[in-house]
Amino acid sequence: MTLIRRKFLTTAALSGGVLSAPSLVQAQSKGTFNWKMTSAYPKGSPFYFDGPGSATDLAKRIKEMSDGRLNIQVFGAGELIPAFEGFDAVRAGTVEMNHANSYFWTGKTFAAQYFTAVPFGMNFQGMNGWLYDGGGIDLWNEVYAPFGMVAMPCGNTGVQMTGWFKKEIKTVADLKGLKMRIPGLAGKVYANLGVDVKVLPGGEIFPALERGVIDAAEFVGPFQDRRLGLHKAAKYYYTTGWHESATVSELLINKAAWQTLPKDLQAIVQNAAAACNVISEAWCQKANADAMEDLIKNQKVIAKPLPEGVIKALRTETDKVLTEAVAKDPMTKKVHDSYMAFMAKYQRWADVSEGAYHSTVRG
Ligand code: CA
Repeated sequence: MTLIRRKFLTTAALSGGVLSAPSLVQAQSKGTFNWKMTSAYPKGSPFYFDGPGSATDLAKRIKEMSDGRLNIQVFGAGELIPAFEGFDAVRAGTVEMNHANSYFWTGKTFAAQYFTAVPFGMNFQGMNGWLYDGGGIDLWNEVYAPFGMVAMPCGNTGVQMTGWFKKEIKTVADLKGLKMRIPGLAGKVYANLGVDVKVLPGGEIFPALERGVIDAAEFVGPFQDRRLGLHKAAKYYYTTGWHESATVSELLINKAAWQTLPKDLQAIVQNAAAACNVISEAWCQKANADAMEDLIKNQKVIAKPLPEGVIKALRTETDKVLTEAVAKDPMTKKVHDSYMAFMAKYQRWADVSEGAYHSTVRG
């Protein structure tokens, strides 16, 4: 290219003139976006950071679908900011996106709990029904509007496990004085039943359980729990996922940044997030089925549901905790009422569809 030609192109670009070079025309009319996304989970974490439907998979899909027009650099917990500072970083616009779970933000706005999981809540199908078609995502965005952020589901663990206990739990009295790692709303429920609740990051659970600093621990499910080695520190694995029946991963986005994206890139982000929502849950089904088989057959773990009396007590305390939260905050009440109304209707449908299938076909 001659000097004169180069000069013409520069002048034309600066003045908004029409360019003949296709790449420059494209760059001008559509633009390229370089964004940052932080995660609440460390680099290398299966499901959350790496693997099918994870944060890095989401960024890869967006890059491919947009032909490189939206490049998202993904940072593990502690790389750019500490694990639980994603909400503030996205709000401030330090990063455009954060990949985590909304229940980490209940200290900012309690209603955020409902977009991850509430105890005795909906399964994966029901949760998706509420989020995508029952007004759930709209409410999520209403809750975050005062913070200048938007959100959408981008992953799901499916049903989680009650967790690991050194001693058998026969009645609700066995929970009294038990030192247990359990975060969030479920922790408040256990505390009401006399559990000494501890909140520890994932990496600290195994040493604490092994040394007897705690007597019980909840993390995720068979694959993730085995990866931490929890089966080597406690043998009773209670399976009832009363506390997290379908835990949603959240894609949190700065609203001002979101509004700078052209409509086609917004659609790409929404479709990539929806794809990861399904793909991550599918991965969990396979990984957990394999891990559970290994835990029972080879690791001699005693896996069983919680006794009915314990479940009943947990349900009673859950109702009390939620009633208190709803009374304190009108937005929580609005989200709670929407969630519970959808769940009641969904449950009636699920009973005659999935429920009937399980009881009559599978036996
Ligand atoms: Ca969990």
